[in-house]
Amino acid sequence: MPQLASTVRGAPHSGIREMMVLARAIPDVLNLGVGDPDFVTPAHIREAADRAARDGFTKYPPSEGFAPLRDLLAAKLAERNGLDVAPEQVVVTSGGTGGLFTSLLITVDPGDEVLIPDPGWANYPPMVHVLNARPVGYRLDPARGWAPDLDDLQARITPRSKVLLLCSPGNPTGGVHTAEELRGALELAAEHDLWVLADECYDEMIFEGEHVSAATIGDPERILTVFTFSKTYAMTGWRLGYVVAPTHVAPALGKAQEPVVASASSISMKAGEAALAGPQDCVREMCGAYRARRDLAIEILDRHGVEYVRPTGAFYLMARTPGGRDSLGFARRLLEERHVSTVPGSAFGASGEGWVRISLCVAEDVVREGVERLAQAVVEGAS
Ligand code: PLP
Repeated sequence: MPQLASTVRGAPHSGIREMMVLARAIPDVLNLGVGDPDFVTPAHIREAADRAARDGFTKYPPSEGFAPLRDLLAAKLAERNGLDVAPEQVVVTSGGTGGLFTSLLITVDPGDEVLIPDPGWANYPPMVHVLNARPVGYRLDPARGWAPDLDDLQARITPRSKVLLLCSPGNPTGGVHTAEELRGALELAAEHDLWVLADECYDEMIFEGEHVSAATIGDPERILTVFTFSKTYAMTGWRLGYVVAPTHVAPALGKAQEPVVASASSISMKAGEAALAGPQDCVREMCGAYRARRDLAIEILDRHGVEYVRPTGAFYLMARTPGGRDSLGFARRLLEERHVSTVPGSAFGASGEGWVRISLCVAEDVVREGVERLAQAVVEGAS
């Protein structure tokens, strides 16, 4: 029989998926492992999709996205992200995932190294791996709200380094990089002539402080920024994202996604137009709910004396395992003995060891009971 490609055979296994499979076998599980909002997409956005289907938006759209959507996105980027870009610099993608992958596709050659945050989103290493490139983790520092450890980042840069990937607000950390923290990392990127891939998919999920777009600080000619509708408008299933790129780079993004996905979905794009043009209170309400759940979770962790890093954005929280050890073993026991599903920090890289990720995009009573059981498990595990 023919063999599957070596890139697929050798692709790293996702620790998140493993916990999901185990959790599915437990009917009364309290699932703090998910990264998918518990909210349904707001009604006016769903209605716009319905209308688009009825109006016949059923054909191949342009690979870079419908022009009215790109216009609306350019306006959103100026207003909410401080990015003054032309619509031609915005390419609509199949989710943030498609945006990240296509960006890597046009910047990375086989054998290149991509610097990724550690802990960082578990999909980064396999994305880099299937391009026959090498993911190299740089440490985020829990003592500074998971800011990049610049000494570690500098030490990881080699002549093969090609791309610096930044993620803020962060998954799994909930950390939001300040302008100063970004500046340090961006200076290193410029010094070593790296592309910067800024994953800003949680840009509107901010609990306090502000989100700073890397491209407002660093050299915009080397920065590609990835956004998504998934988190902002609870649209994970619609597969709609976008990338902002320098003028000379943007056409390559549209071209590169043609052989992979051709384009994003036309119906989703019409829904995206309604999301941007319509009322934004839904975004504030959902973000407010995540913030309230964060406050509830940290109140419970504080009461039990469990160590954690206070998240200021996204919808995750990292709590310390007993003695800062064996996050996979702790997460497995928590699931089997107390029916609470989390994701072990080790699934996000070596620096995630000693932590578990708690998701805040589940109902408040699940957060209350799930975090209570987790906190008890940490206290009992430590004694
Ligand atoms: N980037 C980060 C850090 C994420 O956590 C996710 C999804 O969980 C994505 C990008 C991609 O999201 P999507 O493909 O749904 O837009």
